[in-house]
Amino acid sequence: MPEFFERKQLFTDDGGQLLGSQCKQCGVRQFPPTAICRYCGHDELDEIVLAKTGKVKAFSFDRQFAIGDVELLDGITVFGRIEPLDPERLAVGVPVTLTPLETEDGRIIRFVMDD
Ligand SMILES: [Zn+2]
Repeated sequence: MPEFFERKQLFTDDGGQLLGSQCKQCGVRQFPPTAICRYCGHDELDEIVLAKTGKVKAFSFDRQFAIGDVELLDGITVFGRIEPLDPERLAVGVPVTLTPLETEDGRIIRFVMDD
């Protein structure tokens, strides 16, 4: 498989944080991690560990849970599940912490609202 299609690891080895890429040419940090910069096409990127915390940027409700975009403290937006399912608390700007969920099908990106 050409490197372009290489599937990159999403989580750190301990599973606690997300990985991203930072382009050595244009400097843009991006998620998911990539072998080719999505902005300038450069093929040299550094692996970076993303912030664990952020704020809800947008959300919608699925049947059993909420899903949405979270803007992490380092400015990168990540899409994931948002818990608990509490329509009265969930709002744009609510602080959340990455809490990956282990399932039979693998690890899922999940954010939990801070108390
Ligand atoms: Zn770039």
